[in-house]
Parts: sequence; C-alpha cells; structure tokens
Amino acid sequence: MRKKIVAGNWKMNTTVPEGVELAKAVKEKSAAVPAGIGLIVAVPFTHIVPVSEVLKGSRVGLSAENCADKEKGAYTGEVSVDMLVSAGCNYTILGHSERRQYYGETDEKLVAKTRLALDAGLGVILCVGENLSQREAGNHFKVVTEQIENVLFNFTAEDLSKIIVAYEPVWAIGTGKTATSDQAEEIHACIRKVIAGKFGEKAADDVTILYGGSCKPANAKELFACPDIDGGLIGGAALKADDFIQIALSY
Ligand code: PEP
Repeated sequence: MRKKIVAGNWKMNTTVPEGVELAKAVKEKSAAVPAGIGLIVAVPFTHIVPVSEVLKGSRVGLSAENCADKEKGAYTGEVSVDMLVSAGCNYTILGHSERRQYYGETDEKLVAKTRLALDAGLGVILCVGENLSQREAGNHFKVVTEQIENVLFNFTAEDLSKIIVAYEPVWAIGTGKTATSDQAEEIHACIRKVIAGKFGEKAADDVTILYGGSCKPANAKELFACPDIDGGLIGGAALKADDFIQIALSY
C-alpha cells in the first residue's frame, strides 16, 4: 500500500528562531491530520538540529533540502548524508528544479546522491518535472520519463521502496499557476507506468508520487482526488502552519 504524504519545502526561508516557531506550530496542529497521512518538513541545513529537537517524538518527519554527492572530506561548504542523519534527518529532497536550474544538479549527480542517502538510511524525495518551454513544445512526457529513467533505473525495487517521487512542473513552482488536476494526473500515471515497466506493477503501485507547484488549500482537494496523486510537495504554502495543515486535511 502506498503512503499518502504531505511534505513542506521551506527552501531558503525563515531564520532559525522563525523556523523553530513554524515547526512547533506544525507539530501542534498535526494532531488534526488523520494518522494515515504522513507529514514531513524539509528545512534549511541550519535548522535541522533545533527543528529535530522540536519534532522529536512527533509524527512529523524531518527532511533536508539537498545533500552532498560525496561521502566526506575536502568539499568545503557541502553537507554529507552522515551529517544529516546525525543531525536528526529522516529524508532529503534531491533534484529540486531550483537546484537543477541554479546549481548545476545533473541526473548523474542525483544518482550518486541518492545512493549515498539510501545507504545512510535516509529516505529520498526525488523531484522531476518539465520547464515551460519543454511543456509548450509538447515534450513534458519525454522529459519526465528521461529524468525517471536516468536516476531511478540505477536502483533496485527495494531501493525504490525508500524513494518518494515528486512531480513538479517548473512552470507551476512559486508562480501561482497550478497544473490542472488532469495535467498532473496524466504525468503521474505516466511516471507510474515507466516505473512499472522497469520494476513491476507492485513496485509501481506502491511508490508514492507527490504533486508540487503552487499547491494550496484552495486546490489541494481536487489534485489529491486524482488516483495517481498521493499527496503534495508544498513550497510557499508550507511557510504558514495553518495552510500546510489545511492542505494535509484536504484528503
Ligand atoms: C516547491 O518548490 O517544491 C514548490 C512546490 O513550491 P510552490 O508550492 O511554492 O510552488
């Protein structure tokens, strides 16, 4: 049975004290969310230790927003998977479009990062998605299929059970433009089909595929009603505990 998950991506927002307050509010309000819906917050590196203290013993999982593609050593400014685990993380986001676009994240690097994360015991939230010109050219299925093949096909079905996929059309991230539920569903179904072709129907049926891109309380219900959408990766709306929890209550 695949899990339903609502994950917040705080990106480069909030100071440490503000992040601690946000985490406290999410923890407090999480009691209203049915137990079958997993909650995760992905926070900046500086916030991981204090937020893990806040979330200790709660139902809210803690994610990083990225990790290094090397195990350890002379890589100034990088943060390793072992550091993340020792700081209290359960997951890391990988391949967010902002990292692909601004920081040269390649599928090749994502394979290395995913291997390190899984070996360290971290769950991975792997982001895929097409940009506006790729969609306008009608290449969205091809782009997303290739991203899935280039990264996920290097892993086993057992590895896949620790990976959450997030479909995030780049043109919908932070723009206020949401993919329609039909647009999102057809890509989610395509991702599941590509996964089934490589790993089998059971693995494909079990994989959690989140939608991300201007998901908010007003549109979450319609998106989450789609058969292949198993929750959301939420950016802007995750910065308000009430909105984040409202989205999780949209199931
Ligand atoms: C994101 O960056 O993962 C995201 C979905 O952002 P937003 O909800 O703000 O579009």
